[in-house]
Amino acid sequence: MIIDTHCHLDNEKYYKDVNEVIKRAEENGVKEFIIPAASPKDIKRAVELSEKYDEIYFAVGIHPLDIENFKIEYLHNYITHPKCVAVGEIGLDYHYTKETKELQIELFKKQLDIAIEYNKPVIIHIREANQDAFEILKDYVSKYPTLKGVLHCFNADAQFLKLSNNFYYGIGGVITFKNARKLIEVFPKIPKNRVIIETDSPYLTPHPYRGQRNEPFFTTLVRDKIAELWNITPKEVEEITTKNARELFNI
Ligand SMILES: [Zn+2]
Repeated sequence: MIIDTHCHLDNEKYYKDVNEVIKRAEENGVKEFIIPAASPKDIKRAVELSEKYDEIYFAVGIHPLDIENFKIEYLHNYITHPKCVAVGEIGLDYHYTKETKELQIELFKKQLDIAIEYNKPVIIHIREANQDAFEILKDYVSKYPTLKGVLHCFNADAQFLKLSNNFYYGIGGVITFKNARKLIEVFPKIPKNRVIIETDSPYLTPHPYRGQRNEPFFTTLVRDKIAELWNITPKEVEEITTKNARELFNI
């Protein structure tokens, strides 16, 4: 079985058919799901789904593109819920909003502190902010060696492999893209016991379905691509990555 460690099933794109999306995934061996509820507007839906389905978990955090209404109570309120498995997704994103850089860094650190306080792993989003994110994470793991997390949608910057004592690497649809040269090059250097599978649904749909809505079922395409790159069977990929996800998220 596969665990989709990062799917936004709370997103409005699934309001109509989330039950079928889950069913389609499960019929194809994708049996557990983690929803990173990255915004206060979606968290209720994520919690609701986690209460309705045994196999759904959620994370709580504020995405760097959604920080205007940041309230730290938001994390405290949800983090002790029995289905909350992580803090995330949190991180730095300078692609659209370089001007909020200082605030992003401050709130990123605040949320890392909360993860440490509650002993939860973190789900990290980094876009066009590699250097700042790397320095912050390096500093945190040296101060807090028990901090664990995933670099979601790993962007193939090899310096992050130095964090592999503490971090896992989330591999999704990008690895199937025709232009994924950089990731394909770095991928074999990631320790096998640090790779986990994700979709980032509804975004980043794997080849050959790019352009249509992504859903957890498509992790099977990511699994197959990893099997090809590791030169092992898809079943072996499932065993390795599921074990990794269980260790990281304690599920
Ligand atoms: Zn995401």
